[in-house]
Amino acid sequence: MRKIIIAIDGYSSTGKSTVAKKLANALDYVYVDTGAMYRAVTLYGLNHGFVQDSLDTKALIEALPEIELKFKPNQSLGKSEMYLNGKNVEKEIRDMKVSENVSQVAAVEEVREKLVELQQAMGDEKGIVMDGRDIGTVVFPEAELKIFMTASPETRAHRRYKELLDRGDEVTFERVLKNVKARDYIDSTRSVSPLQRAEDAIKIDNSDMGQEEQFERIYNFAQRIIQQD
Ligand code: C5P
Repeated sequence: MRKIIIAIDGYSSTGKSTVAKKLANALDYVYVDTGAMYRAVTLYGLNHGFVQDSLDTKALIEALPEIELKFKPNQSLGKSEMYLNGKNVEKEIRDMKVSENVSQVAAVEEVREKLVELQQAMGDEKGIVMDGRDIGTVVFPEAELKIFMTASPETRAHRRYKELLDRGDEVTFERVLKNVKARDYIDSTRSVSPLQRAEDAIKIDNSDMGQEEQFERIYNFAQRIIQQD
């Protein structure tokens, strides 16, 4: 059967990864969370002092060759996890400190060049669902199916706040909402590969839509394309 590339872009905490993971499982495709890659580079920067109150862009760029990123499957969880220089950092990269610094790191051209190259190599054989901000516009402009997800900032901040509380983090709703809005702003206004809807992407506003409904919709779009020819 024909294999395709599915690109899912959109604002932070729109539930991209939940639907992308489900889709990849249903189609027996590989799922790639590109946000995890930008988060891992940010964690490296925080641990090495390049990302503090302000970003030391030069030091970060010089350190890029030392940063090795790998996704490794975790069989018991049924998903892949992010490894930074051989260490599992899946939990750490979701910390608020990383969320509060990742957008400035992701705006650096050299960081994007390195990560986009890795992402494109992962899609060589198609059969992939990738989520992020620039997948349909830059990483795979030729993707057969492109989705652009959006929801109100308050809805997204509530989802993220709940996730953080569920994993035991001490955080206020105001801090999460502020971060969601700040990332939206930086991600959409940066000069390199800003977050924007590809012209041929299908827009889905899921403010009032359950996970099952989103999945069904996107799965049906994908099946229609896969079954062509
Ligand atoms: O998807 P997630 O919210 O984990 O992404 C974290 C951050 O990484 C985003 O806010 C954005 O700054 C950056 N990012 C990006 N391009 C991607 C994926 C994520 O710039 N393809």
